[in-house]
Amino acid sequence: MSTHSFKSTRRQAIAGGLSAALIAGCSPRSAWSTTATDVIVIGGGMAGVSAALTLEEKGVNVQIVEADTQLGGRCFTLRTDEGSFDCGATTIGPTYGSVLYHANKADVPFIAPSSKDPFSYHINGEFVHPQDWENSSANRLVGAERALLPEQLEFPILMQHNQIENIHEWNKPSLLAHDVALDKFLKQRGVSDEALRLIDLTSNTMGLDQTSALFQMREFAGIAPPKDGEEVREVYDAAGGPPGFYNVEGGMLTLIERIATNLKTEPILSDPVVAIDVEQDRVSVKTKSGRTVVAKSAICTVPFSALKSVAITPALSGAKKTAIDQALYTLTTHVFFIPTKPYWESDGLPAGLVTDDVVERVMANHNADGKVAWLDVWVNGIAAVQLDKMEEKDMIPFVQSRLETLRPSMKGAIQPVGAYSWGRNPYVQGNKYIMRPGEVGTLFEALNKPHMERLRFAGEHTRNTEAGLEAAAASGAREAIAYLDRFA
Ligand SMILES: Cc1cc2nc3c(=O)[nH]c(=O)nc-3n(C[C@H](O)[C@H](O)[C@H](O)COP(=O)(O)OP(=O)(O)OC[C@H]3O[C@@H](n4cnc5c(N)ncnc54)[C@H](O)[C@@H]3O)c2cc1C
Repeated sequence: MSTHSFKSTRRQAIAGGLSAALIAGCSPRSAWSTTATDVIVIGGGMAGVSAALTLEEKGVNVQIVEADTQLGGRCFTLRTDEGSFDCGATTIGPTYGSVLYHANKADVPFIAPSSKDPFSYHINGEFVHPQDWENSSANRLVGAERALLPEQLEFPILMQHNQIENIHEWNKPSLLAHDVALDKFLKQRGVSDEALRLIDLTSNTMGLDQTSALFQMREFAGIAPPKDGEEVREVYDAAGGPPGFYNVEGGMLTLIERIATNLKTEPILSDPVVAIDVEQDRVSVKTKSGRTVVAKSAICTVPFSALKSVAITPALSGAKKTAIDQALYTLTTHVFFIPTKPYWESDGLPAGLVTDDVVERVMANHNADGKVAWLDVWVNGIAAVQLDKMEEKDMIPFVQSRLETLRPSMKGAIQPVGAYSWGRNPYVQGNKYIMRPGEVGTLFEALNKPHMERLRFAGEHTRNTEAGLEAAAASGAREAIAYLDRFA
C-alpha cells in the first residue's frame, strides 16, 4: 500500500550531491540501479522520517529506504470497513517537541485521546467488579498492595522504590547496583509474589526476570508519582498531566502520512536493505531487489531485532555487536472486536477486562459519545509468544473463544474485525527494545555509537530518557545534526 503524496516527487539524480570519483566507484554490473545521495536513511518509521526531514530542511539530499509497503513502522493503523484501529503508538504527549514540530508543519489532525470503560477483573478464577477488588477473595495481594487495582500496581510500586533522583543521571555508576533483575529488586524490597505476578501481566516487558530494574525505573522516573485521588498514569503520559495529550484522527498512520508529505524525495518502499558497506569516504547500501544506494553517510533506524539479519561490513564488534545480536524486544499482539450487544449490561461489570488468562487485557474504547465502540484485546510479553505461534486465522477464534469462556455475556456479543502482531512483523519483531539485567552497565553507551563515523544509528532503541515516539523522532534529529556537524 502506498498512500503517500509528495509535494515534490523529485527523484534524486544519479549523481545527486556526490563526487564523480564516488560514482566511478560503483560496480558496472549494478550501475543501472545505483542511486547516489548525501544521506541514506534506512527505515522509515518516526526516527527515519524525522532524520530525513531535519536534513532536507538544511538542503541535504536524502533517500529513505523502507522494507515495508508503507512508511510508519510502529505507527501503524489497521484500516477496515468497521473502522481504523491503531496497532502501535496511539498517544502524543505535551513534551513531544520533535514530533509536534513535524506534526504542526503538516497540519496533523489531532483529537482528544479516546476514553475507556473501566476494567473488570477475572483473576485467580473469579470475576470481580473493581469496587469489590480490595476485599475480594481473588485479591491475594498483601498489605497496602491490596488497595491497588491489578493494572495499576507497576507504577506506584516501582516509584516507591525508585532510586533515580535525577532522570538525566539515571545510569550514573552509583546506580548500576540496581542494574539487576526487576523481580529480584522488588522482592528484596518486600513486594509480594502475587504483586510480581500481576505486574508481569500488564507490564511492557518479557518478564520481570528479563528486565533490568534500573532500565525500568528510567521508564517511569520522569513521571511524578500520583497523589491521593489521582489516577495512575501510563508511561506515555510522561509529562505529568492530562492536558496536551493527543490521538490523531484516522490513527497514527495518518500522522506519518501527513508528515511524509513534506519529504522532498520519494522514499523507496517494499525493499529491505540487506547489506551495508562502510568505507572511509562513503556508505553503500544494497537492497533485496538488487538496488544499490551510495552516500556520504547512512542513518540506520532499523530495530536491532531486525538489524541482526543485515550484513554490515566491516563487521561490528564489542558491545555494539552484542547489543544487536542479543537484542530483546517486548512482544505485543492485538485482536480487535466490535461489540454487537452491550454484554456489560448483561453481567453488570465494566466493559474492560484484566485477567490472568492468556488474553490478559481487553481495552473497551469509547466513541466521542462516551459509548463502548471497540475492544482492543492487548496481549504483552510471554502471553503474546503463545498467540504468535498461531496463524491469524486460528488466533482470532482462539481469543474470541477464551473471552466467551471467561465472560459468558460476551458470547454472541462481539464481532472480530482484525488482529496485529508486532512479533510477527519481520521488520520490527516486537513492541520496544528492553535492557536485560546487567545491560545498562555493559551495553547502553554502545547503542547509539556510530560505526566508522559514517554509519550512524537512530530509533527508539538508541534513546536516552525520552519516551516512545518522541524518543524515535529526537534520535532521528540527533543523528541528522551529527551528520551536519561532521560531513555537510
Ligand atoms: C503497541 C505499541 C503501542 C505504543 N504506544 C505508544 C504511544 O501511545 N505513544 C508513544 O509515544 N509511543 C508508543 N509506542 C512506541 C512508538 O510507536 C515507537 O517508539 C516508535 O514508533 C518507534 O519508531 P522507530 O522509528 O524508532 O522504529 P520503527 O517505527 O520500528 O521504524 C523502523 C523502520 O525500519 C524498517 N526496517 C526494518 N528493517 C529494515 C530493513 N532491512 N531495510 C529497510 N527498512 C527496514 C521497519 O519496517 C520500520 O518501518 C508504542 C509502540 C507499540 C508497539
